[in-house]
Amino acid sequence: MAKKIAVIGAGVAGLSAASHLQRNGYDTEIFEMHNLPGGLCTAWKKQGYTFDGCIHWLVGSGPGHPLYHRWNEILDMQSLSFVEMEDFARVDDDRGNSLTLYSDADKLGAELSRHAGAKADLSAVDAMVEGVKLFALDEERDPAVKRRKGAFMVEWGRTTTVQFARKLDSPFLEYALQVLLGPGSISGLPWLMSVFHLKSAGYPIGGSLAFARVIEKRYLELGGKVRYDARVAAVMTEDDAARGIRLESGEEIKTDLVISAADGRFTIFTLLGGKYASDEIRGFYAGKNPALIPNPSWVQVSLGLSRGLEGGLHQLMWKPPRPLVVDEKAKHEVVGARIYNFDPTLAPAGHTVVIAMLDTKNGDFWRNLRHDDKAKYDAEKSRIADEYIALLDAKLGGIKDNVEVVDVSTPATAVRYTGNWQGSYMGWGWGTKVPVWTQRKLPGLRDFFMTGQWVTHAGGLPTVMMDGRATAALVCERDGKEFGSGT
Ligand SMILES: Cc1cc2nc3c(=O)[nH]c(=O)nc-3n(C[C@H](O)[C@H](O)[C@H](O)COP(=O)(O)OP(=O)(O)OC[C@H]3O[C@@H](n4cnc5c(N)ncnc54)[C@H](O)[C@@H]3O)c2cc1C
Repeated sequence: MAKKIAVIGAGVAGLSAASHLQRNGYDTEIFEMHNLPGGLCTAWKKQGYTFDGCIHWLVGSGPGHPLYHRWNEILDMQSLSFVEMEDFARVDDDRGNSLTLYSDADKLGAELSRHAGAKADLSAVDAMVEGVKLFALDEERDPAVKRRKGAFMVEWGRTTTVQFARKLDSPFLEYALQVLLGPGSISGLPWLMSVFHLKSAGYPIGGSLAFARVIEKRYLELGGKVRYDARVAAVMTEDDAARGIRLESGEEIKTDLVISAADGRFTIFTLLGGKYASDEIRGFYAGKNPALIPNPSWVQVSLGLSRGLEGGLHQLMWKPPRPLVVDEKAKHEVVGARIYNFDPTLAPAGHTVVIAMLDTKNGDFWRNLRHDDKAKYDAEKSRIADEYIALLDAKLGGIKDNVEVVDVSTPATAVRYTGNWQGSYMGWGWGTKVPVWTQRKLPGLRDFFMTGQWVTHAGGLPTVMMDGRATAALVCERDGKEFGSGT
């Protein structure tokens, strides 16, 4: 008889793990507290508009990228239409300068050169363009490519965005590249832009929830089961082995193995009562490891506009005359707008959706405010929306009189709907040193695995999809089965 496995959470990691296990002959069932698949990969409807809460770009959306074939293992990629953008984004300063990060490597090089000053070393631009083309090559097919990528990283790894911009003698590029890439190394630029150059960083028409539903569809076709509105309250153990789950309703489901694809902290300290947390793991979640900091949460302002926005802009970042204050810890000197003209399914004809995602590390503040003073919480949401609309109106014109629908979500929303610690949008932060328990196991506990964004490095959907796959492969290996991926 097939071994029975309970998977906690129908986010992309849970769906991926369950799908691969189902394909490999296990009897899997996913238990999801929400009434939808996707977790953070989601969208919601309001008065005729769909507001997307996730995918800006999906690495592996095009067949030229190796991850395309991995996605195809858990969904039918051909059933989706991806929009591959001509550029990643445009950044404006407050003096009339604009930088567009074009997807095409040569066009990107020309754009960087356009901003170069009189004393620029243009060989730095040539090196970046070559870098983009190099990172677009498949290293699996040619070991020499892997070596060249490594050499590039060594050469450019220690050059910051500011140092790179100084090579180009351009204060504007100093500003613009930091807005786009942060203050760290410039070596991330070729990797990022190589995915766009390959036309493999697309957005699926219909948005993130439609994407999650296509993954769910494949899983159900394989014979998998999903139980929605099923909040797991505990992982049951016997002699230090997981033996099933208990739902909040009190129902107990006995299984041979449990996989948690839910929030890491909740899994370790609530579902398992902290019994299998080593001091090191406790330290991770107590903020004792400076290399292990969760990604921030975000306040999302979503607008339904009764007009389209011309000009082909889809992602704009600009410096408004005054910062947008989200809360005590988040004062945004630069704000962004994602303009969804490219997806006609999200708004009535001739209308469009605009979304601002405003990072904050103040997840607990928003949770407490919602809990303690709902009127103030609502007032803060309105204040942020009003300020954002005023800034966008000053920037693009014709906004404030055309706003039909306003929706504001906060870190409290993210916690309520996905359970993620501090409302983090991507688990552990960038540059995080991969913790020892990325073996996906907890010390002393058998027949139990964790998967998803709290046991791997930051990287969004492809990373958690691959993590779910790797977890399924581990289970097969443990059981002496050859892992089959379906391709
Ligand atoms: C605004 C935003 C934009 C993003 N943009 C991109 C992008 O452009 N590209 C990209 O690749 N990635 C992007 N990401 C990141 C990506 O969405 C996440 O990294 C990924 O979805 C995490 O998947 P996961 O399955 O590990 O976790 P989650 O999505 O958090 O899934 C966990 C699931 O477990 C469920 N759960 C929790 N507790 C319980 C319980 N007790 N019982 C039952 N079920 C439970 C939750 O409801 C949820 O469904 C973005 C994220 C956000 C928020």
